[in-house]
Amino acid sequence: MEKYAYVTAITNKWYLRGVKTLAKSLRRTGTTIPLHIMMPKKCCDSDLHREVAKLNLEIIFLPDIEIDSEYCTNNRMAHWNDTFFKLNVAQLVQFTKIVFLDADMIILKNIDHLFAYPSISATTGGKSAHPEWEEFNSGIMVLEPSNVLFQTLLECIVPAIERKTALKLGYGDQDVFNQYYPDWKNDPQHNFGECYNVEHCFVDDYVKATGSNRFDGIYVLHFIGENKIWNKSFIQLIQMFHGLTKDKKYHERKACLLYLKYLYL
Ligand code: UDP
Ligand code: MN
Repeated sequence: MEKYAYVTAITNKWYLRGVKTLAKSLRRTGTTIPLHIMMPKKCCDSDLHREVAKLNLEIIFLPDIEIDSEYCTNNRMAHWNDTFFKLNVAQLVQFTKIVFLDADMIILKNIDHLFAYPSISATTGGKSAHPEWEEFNSGIMVLEPSNVLFQTLLECIVPAIERKTALKLGYGDQDVFNQYYPDWKNDPQHNFGECYNVEHCFVDDYVKATGSNRFDGIYVLHFIGENKIWNKSFIQLIQMFHGLTKDKKYHERKACLLYLKYLYL
C-alpha cells in the first residue's frame, strides 16, 4: 500500500517560525497527507524540540550527517552547512513516496498531485531569471526513499563538495542531489516546473516570463537566502518593502506580504 508523506527539516531555532508557517500554509491547502518534521537526534528534549512539539506534527529524530569540519569552515555558503542533514529524507523507508519541502516555503495551492511524479522529481529555482541554470533546486523534491539511495547520496557528498570548491562556490545538500542525478536536465518527466518552486527574488521574472498576470499560477513560494523573512525585525521589513517598491519589484512585494499573512494567521 502506498504511504505518502510531506517532510521538512529543522536543525536550529532560526528555522522555527519558518516550519510553523510552512505547516500552516500546507494545512490550508486541504491536504490529508501528513507533514513530518526531521530533527537531529541531539535536539531531543531541547527547547527547540519542545517548540516544534507544539505543532502537533510527527517528529522524526535522525543522526547528524557528518561533514569534515574543514569543509564547513571553508563553505562560502555558511547557512548551507546544516542542509546536509536533509539527505536523511532518503532513508525514511517507512514511506513509499515523499514530497520534501524546505522550511522556507509557503504552499499556496494543493500540491498532492506531485506524488504522481517519479523519483527524483524537482525543478530549477529561478529558471525564468536564469534560463542557463540546469541543476534542480532541492527545496522541493519528490522521492522514493531507499537505503540504496541514501547510501549513494552519502557517497556523493565529498565529490559534490570538491566540484563546488573547484568552482570557488559554496555547497549544500542540493549539490549532493545534483551530483547523484546529473542527467536530471535531460529527463523532462522528472521536472514539475518552476510554478512549484518560485524563489521570492525571482517572482517578477517568473510572472513576466509566463505572460500577463500569472501570479495565480504559483503553487509554492520559496524564500531563499540567509536572511529569512520570518526573522526580520519590524524596521527591517519596512526597509525591505521600501526597497521592493523603489525597485518596482511589485510581485516580490506581493509574495512577501503573502508570507507575512501566513506567518501571522
Ligand atoms: N535547514 C535547517 N537548518 C539550517 C539550515 C537549513 O534546518 O541551519 C533546513 C531548513 O529546512 C531549510 C533547508 O534546510 O529550509 C534548506 O536551507 P535553506 O532553505 O536556508 O537554503 P536556501 O533555500 O536559502 O538556499
Ligand atoms: Mn530554502
